[in-house]
Formats: sequence, structure tokens, C-alpha cells
Amino acid sequence: MARIEVVLGDITRERVDAVVTAANESLMGGGGVDGAIHRAAGPRLAEAGAVVGPCDPGDAVATPAFDFAPVRHVIHTVGPVWEGGAEGEAEVLASCYRRCLEVADGLGARTVAFPAIATGVYGFPPDQAARIAVATIGATPTDVDEVRLVAFDEESRDLLNAELAR
Ligand code: ADP
Repeated sequence: MARIEVVLGDITRERVDAVVTAANESLMGGGGVDGAIHRAAGPRLAEAGAVVGPCDPGDAVATPAFDFAPVRHVIHTVGPVWEGGAEGEAEVLASCYRRCLEVADGLGARTVAFPAIATGVYGFPPDQAARIAVATIGATPTDVDEVRLVAFDEESRDLLNAELAR
């Protein structure tokens, strides 16, 4: 099982083996955290995304991290668009975390940073998302040593810490 660390900040400042991005299905770049990661990695990230994409919600796929050194891999995952909670959104979000860890294992990554997938433009309630993130990572067997959950605001940070303390 991976050790979980909650941190507040910009995920493009993380120095880990792999960074997860909350992508859209095209994998060619979007707004929010995905835009920041594409800026850090440079234009080759969108080119690589176009080759390995599209990606279904709940799935994940890796590319190199290009200019985002020393990070070696970007793991692109597509969260659920929140439509009220009765459309399987929770299961899709849990699948994102599981699949990212599986992909990280395939890459041999030992340290992985995740943003709060789907809690921005996709509208997933941050408290429920924090619960799913912590519970799913805790229940997924993996060779990853450290998962860093990177909150971009204090509310998300506090929600994640509350889940860790449960
Ligand atoms: P989604 O479309 O999956 O909702 P967003 O990028 O809109 O993805 O938002 C996901 C989360 O990432 C939000 O909590 C947002 O505040 C956060 N976020 C945005 N930019 C960054 C960043 N540079 N580092 C870490 N988290 C970020």
C-alpha cells in the first residue's frame, strides 16, 4: 500500500516520478490542472496525447513528461462529469485512482502526485471526491511508495486531511 501525503500547492512544482493529470477524453490538453501540466511539459505532451488517446472516463494512460523534468511520466486520466451523482460518477472516479496506480506500477513509478480529479470544471463535490480518493488509494494494492495528493486550495487540503484521519 502506498503512503499518502496531502500537500497544498501547484502540482507542477512536484518532484515525483509521475504526475497525474485530470484530462479530457482527447488527451490533447484542456484547462485547469491539465493546462498547467501541458504548459510544464511543452507541446510534445499534446502530440503524445493525440497518439495514445482518446481515453474513456475512469481509464488512464501514460506518456512521457517531456519538458516537465525531473518528472518522468504524465498519467492522463479522465474523470466523470458530475451529473448529480446517480450516473455512476463515484465508481468512475474510484476507477480513475485505481487505474492510475496500475499504470504507475507498469511504469515502475514509486512516487506519484495526483490532483483532485474532477473537482474543478467537471463539478464533482470536493468532500465526496476526497473520500473516494483516500479510500480508493488505501484499498488498491500497488508498488508505489508515496502518493502525494496535491490540493490547490485550503478547503480541498482540509477535506483530504479529514479523510486521512478517519
Ligand atoms: P476537472 O475537469 O477534472 O474537474 P480541473 O483541472 O478543472 O479538472 O480541476 C481539478 C482540480 O485541480 C481542482 O480542484 C482544481 O482546483 C485543481 N487545480 C487546478 N490547477 C491546479 C494546479 N496547478 N495544481 C494542482 N491542482 C490544480
